[in-house]
Amino acid sequence: MDYKEKHKPVCFKCKIELNKIISNKLISAEKLKIFDHPRRILEANFPLLRDDGELEIIKAYRVLYNGDLGPGKGGIRFHADVTLEEVVELAFIMSLKNSLAGLDFGGAKGGVAINPRDYSATELEKISRSYVREFFNYLGPDIDVPAPDVNTTSEIMGWMMDEYNKLSGKKVPAFITGKSLADGGSEGRDKATAQGGFFIIEDRYKNKKKADMTVAIQGFGNAGGQMAKFLFAAGYKVVAVSDSKIGIYDPNGLDIEAVYNHVYDTVKKRRLSELDGYTKISNQELLRLDVDLLVLAALGGVITYDNVDFVKAKEILELANGPITARAEEKLLSNGQVVIPDLLANAGGVIVSVFEWEQNLKDEHWSLTEVESKLKQQIISTYQNVISTSDAEKIDLRLAAHKIALVRILNKNKIDVV
Ligand code: NAD
Repeated sequence: MDYKEKHKPVCFKCKIELNKIISNKLISAEKLKIFDHPRRILEANFPLLRDDGELEIIKAYRVLYNGDLGPGKGGIRFHADVTLEEVVELAFIMSLKNSLAGLDFGGAKGGVAINPRDYSATELEKISRSYVREFFNYLGPDIDVPAPDVNTTSEIMGWMMDEYNKLSGKKVPAFITGKSLADGGSEGRDKATAQGGFFIIEDRYKNKKKADMTVAIQGFGNAGGQMAKFLFAAGYKVVAVSDSKIGIYDPNGLDIEAVYNHVYDTVKKRRLSELDGYTKISNQELLRLDVDLLVLAALGGVITYDNVDFVKAKEILELANGPITARAEEKLLSNGQVVIPDLLANAGGVIVSVFEWEQNLKDEHWSLTEVESKLKQQIISTYQNVISTSDAEKIDLRLAAHKIALVRILNKNKIDVV
C-alpha cells in the first residue's frame, strides 16, 4: 500500500461524517457551509542550492483550515507525495481535533514535497529555514504554530525556530512545538499520544479486572510501543504486538518490558522477527484475535470491507489516523463492536504540543508529573463529553466527536446550531 493510498480513508471519512451529521439532522447543511473551504492557503516555490551546485525548486504549503478558535496548530510533513489537496484535508482534520480537545486553536497543516532521504542534513536545514522565511508573516505564537509530522524531527523544529528568531530579532520559542528539551520542548511530548489513549482506556475500563483484559496492538513504533508499555505496566494482558513485518503472540500475555527493551536496544534497534522464543503471527492474524481491545497504531486503512468480518475484538482504539475505512466501521458498529475514534484517541499529542506553547509563552518548564496530570484531566473530560453526547443523541462515538468539534467552532462564530 503506498503512502497516498493509506491516507485516503482519512479525508474520505471526514466527508462521510459531515454527510451523516446532516442526515441525522444534528447540524444543517446551511450552517456547515463555513467548513466548505480553507481560510488560508499558502504555496511557495523556493530555490535550493544543492550540495553538488545544482539548483532545485522546492514546493511547500501551509494551510489554515479554520482559525475561529485561535491561532492555527498543526504539523509540517516532508514527503515526496505531499500535495495541496492532502495538506488541506489534514488541516481540516486538525481543526476538528483541536476543537474537540477543547484547545483554543484552529487547525493548520504544512508540507514540503520532498523525499527527505534524498537530501543531506545541510540541504534539509536550508529547506527548513527557507520554509520559515517564505511563510514568516503567517506564522507565530498568535497566528499559526507548526509542529513535527511525518519525517520531521525535533532537530528540524530547532532549525525552524532559529530562523524565526533571526527574522524576529528576538527569541520566540512559542512559534513552534515538538522542539528538543534543550530548545524549550515539553516533558512528556514523546509519549503524549500513547499516554492520552491510555488515559481513555483506564477511564473506560475502570470497573474491569485488568489482568483479565486481553489487548492486541498493531504497530510497535512511537505510539504502539509506548501504549504497550503503559498497558503492561498497568497490569493488562497484552497478548500480541506487531511491526510492519510480523507480530508476536502469547495468549497468557507478553512480557512487554522485555520485548520493548529488545526492540529498542540502545546499541541496535531490532525487529520483532529477530526475537526468539515467541509464537509469530501475521498482521492479518493479529487483527483477527478474539481480544477485549484492539489498538491500531500503525497505518491508515488496515481494517477494510474485505477483512472486517474477521475482526473479533470487542472494542477498537484508533491511535493511528484513519485505520478503519467507513464501510468497515459500519459493519463493526452493526455487530455491536465499539470504535474509539482517532480524533479523540490520539489527541494527546496535540494537547501536549499546546502545553509546550503555553510553557514557552510563560517562560516555564513543567515537570513530567504536571504535564501528565494536565493531559489526563483534558483528555478524560474530552472523552466524557464524547460519551455523554453519544448517549444523549444515540449516535456512535465518531459522529459524537465530530458534532462536538463542529458545534464548538460554530458557537464561536455565534452560529446557533439548534
Ligand atoms: P512509527 O513510525 O513510530 O511506528 C509505526 C509502526 O507501525 C511501526 O512499528 C511499524 O513497523 C508499523 N507498521 C508499518 N507498516 C505496517 C504495516 N503494514 N502493518 C503493521 N504495522 C506496520 O509511527 P508512530 O508515530 O507510532 O505513528 C503511528 C500512527 O499513529 C500513525 O498513523 C500516526 O499518524 C499516528 N499518530 C501518531 C502520533 C504521534 O505523536 N506519534 C500522533 C497522532 C497520530
